[in-house]
Amino acid sequence: MSQKIDPKREHAVLAEILSRIDAAAREAGRDPASVTLVAVSKTYEAEDIRPVLEAGQRVFGENRVQEAAGKWPALRERFADTELHLIGPLQTNKAREAVSLFDAIHSLDRERLAVALAKEMEKQGRRPTLFVQVNTGEEEQKAGIAPGETEAFVARCREEYGLDIAGLMCIPPFDEPAGPHFALLAKLARKLGLKGLSMGMSADFETAVKLGATHVRVGSALFGTRPKP
Ligand SMILES: *Cc1c(COP(=O)(O)O)cnc(C)c1O
Repeated sequence: MSQKIDPKREHAVLAEILSRIDAAAREAGRDPASVTLVAVSKTYEAEDIRPVLEAGQRVFGENRVQEAAGKWPALRERFADTELHLIGPLQTNKAREAVSLFDAIHSLDRERLAVALAKEMEKQGRRPTLFVQVNTGEEEQKAGIAPGETEAFVARCREEYGLDIAGLMCIPPFDEPAGPHFALLAKLARKLGLKGLSMGMSADFETAVKLGATHVRVGSALFGTRPKP
């Protein structure tokens, strides 16, 4: 069960987040249009997502293939121009479904997944936008390519698997200020000539925008606190 979302309130909340993104971008001398809000709708049901679609939001993030496959096809019939982004870990055996369902995948974090995605993209003739996830905090339990290995990994994705890499993504450690991690990711992306930067969540998306984020992934600030699973 998720909490009920009031459409009028949702409209105001969305407008407020967009205006905060706008202000952060301007403050950094960036074009606000260069930042995409990815509304993270994981754990929320279709009836809670609909008001956000009705308020005009069209880019959404989910962290599980199965959950997204359950609720999005029906929503997309009504809102056909919706873009769906996978932001959570992807198992190799779900690559087929992920390639057919998602327009972007932010969690390319290992060689075997690159192989599986390349194969499925070839087969399906669909090319979701890809971000390589970087473990900027070098946390043992966290997914992602180590910062020092990112350049070689991106090169292999391009040269060996023919993948177009749009950018880098990170999830900073929970117990550290996010700014230095965002700065590190931005620096890596610049070095590799990558334009996309998926970074920043509810607590720190303005910092991320100031440091160059092109995609901020905002969940709870938009939908309210997620129900415990
Ligand atoms: C859940 C999630 C988010 C959104 O987090 P909030 O703090 O609710 O904004 C962003 N990115 C990833 C990878 C997530 O899993």
